Amino acid sequence: MPGVGKYIYSQQLSQYKFAEGHPFDPLRLEITTDLLRHMHVLFSDEIVAPLPASFETLTLVHDPGYIELVQNASLKNLTIGKNLSCGLGTDDNPIFCNMHEAASLTVGATVKAAELVLKKQTDHSLNISGGLHHAKQNQASGFCIYNDIAVAIAWIRKKYRIRVMYIDTDAHHGDGVQWFFYSDPNVLTVSIHEAGRYLFPGTGNIDEMGVGMGRGYCLNLPLEPYTNDCSYMECLEKLLITAAKNFRPDIIVSQHGCDIHYLDPLTHISVTNKTLSYIPQLIHTLAHEYAQGKWVALGGGGYDIWNVVPRAWSLVWGEVSNRTIPRELPRTWLEKWGRISPVTLLRTLCDTFCSHEDHPHIEEIREKNIVNLNRLMGCLQGGGHHIKGLQLQK
Ligand SMILES: [Zn+2]
Ligand SMILES: [Zn+2]
Repeated sequence: MPGVGKYIYSQQLSQYKFAEGHPFDPLRLEITTDLLRHMHVLFSDEIVAPLPASFETLTLVHDPGYIELVQNASLKNLTIGKNLSCGLGTDDNPIFCNMHEAASLTVGATVKAAELVLKKQTDHSLNISGGLHHAKQNQASGFCIYNDIAVAIAWIRKKYRIRVMYIDTDAHHGDGVQWFFYSDPNVLTVSIHEAGRYLFPGTGNIDEMGVGMGRGYCLNLPLEPYTNDCSYMECLEKLLITAAKNFRPDIIVSQHGCDIHYLDPLTHISVTNKTLSYIPQLIHTLAHEYAQGKWVALGGGGYDIWNVVPRAWSLVWGEVSNRTIPRELPRTWLEKWGRISPVTLLRTLCDTFCSHEDHPHIEEIREKNIVNLNRLMGCLQGGGHHIKGLQLQK
């Protein structure tokens, strides 16, 4: 019945595992799903197991030669970790057994999430294993082998020909998805991220706005390191509301990388769960206001798998399933995972403290973000001479 969210998940998704000690740890999928079960906010009839994406589906985005390379690299007799090409076999993307199968399943999960929404079996869906936004046509990048997001959006475009708004709130720029749809006026990509001069992949400047017919359908807002809740939410709200109002999407696809949290070890954006709660809330509202509720939510980055990922993605599921998530984490879950966690587990859903909140340059950071936001909004509202696609309709 529409109105109830679907959660795309199976234990097989945890096979997407590069190596021991690699920061992209699929254990986070299990810890998060287990938390939702212990909270009694996720039930078996809401869970849909994915199937791997077919070779043909993958070719909507990836070169057949690249897929074959991944397939060959996945064979057990190949030297694990051996440097190949196309970004495979590097420190970021080491080769692992059944890499093709694992990555295809992640893509299949995101396509399934989109399919359920478009076949009206649900209004909203969530695939926390998805959100691998860095993978390119013929290149693995930043822990991403196949780009599940781009494949799903290409699949939506091919099958339904509707307008897709993609929102990426990961700390890293959503480069892979951006480049796939850079000349397509039917896919609006919006990425808000830590500025490329401080963080991988280095792109995502305001002047990357799309080309040809797609000019104006790619929006990037780079943020300063140590951006806090107040500045982040201020920028996000203005940007997303204006963009959705102008573009009027038929469906929203969002990537919820939670590496913007101040505890994340890989990035420097310093928000708390206040922002990580606000993001899905705002996107949920926009989905109902502009896209008849059609919303596909995905995971993404998040490298504090104990104290950030489970709490942040519970908040996403709360919006997707339209349920209130308990403020206190269940004692049973804390005891179970506390036994193996190397850090003390936080006991509440909300953060009561942020170590960077009193950063000495907090006002300067906010001002720089506002300058960038105004530059981008100026273009959006027709102040930029070259932006045709997204002029504000009066
Ligand atoms: Zn809803
Ligand atoms: Zn990230």
